[in-house]
Amino acid sequence: MEARELLYSGKAKSVYRSSVPHELILRFRDDITAFDGGKKDVKEKKGSYNAGVSAFFFRLLEESGVKTHFLRMIDDRTMVARELTMIPLEVIVRNLAAGSIVRNYPFKEGQPLNPPVIVIDYKDDSRHDPMLNDDLIVALKVVTGPELATIKQIALRINDVLRQHLARQGITLVDFKLEFGKGQDGTIYLGDEISMDSMRLWDAKTGESLDKDVYRFDKGDVLDVYDKVSHRIIADKKGS
Ligand code: C5P
Repeated sequence: MEARELLYSGKAKSVYRSSVPHELILRFRDDITAFDGGKKDVKEKKGSYNAGVSAFFFRLLEESGVKTHFLRMIDDRTMVARELTMIPLEVIVRNLAAGSIVRNYPFKEGQPLNPPVIVIDYKDDSRHDPMLNDDLIVALKVVTGPELATIKQIALRINDVLRQHLARQGITLVDFKLEFGKGQDGTIYLGDEISMDSMRLWDAKTGESLDKDVYRFDKGDVLDVYDKVSHRIIADKKGS
């Protein structure tokens, strides 16, 4: 299968039409960005680490009954995915307080959030992805009320699956961002990626960052961290 027309080029992925109808090709590039594109670099192999972890999580989620856009990998940075009509929401699930909610609200860094907190932003770079609430989402007709309830339910199910797997590898899932889309019959699928760029992961013993915060805040060698954490994540599901 070969990549044809470029449909979309995001900050770290390019999406192409393929030779098969309704199957897209997603290429995970080596670009890394932070702060709304204010910081940018190219880190060789970074795309393949994120692609590998995303493919692993999509497979794990499918085994757990979550519908995802993942179909198969072509090579270590190229994924074939079901074509979706993307829903312009960034669905963030938070288990511990960190990042923007510590900056914007009186939470302490690392404070447990039990039950997990779901924050939904409107995916619109020109507006800097403003935070939404349920009424705004329905008023904007992004999705219906029942669809929103389904999205939240799927997001919490995904949180359970990822959190359990990562805990077995000695990693705390602090927070992560999901994007959803609709298939041709209106079914809601998980889309986009689940990677070190879209999750906040802390080593359960040392509290060290194992995700894009290493790049954002110059905490070390981001490629070395992505290499090591991707091997920990992809380790045998029943093992250790
Ligand atoms: O910056 P903030 O603390 O709101 O991010 C919460 C989580 O969502 C982090 O894991 C971050 O990497 C992810 N995120 C993302 N893409 C965005 C915004 C947040 O992957 N546009």
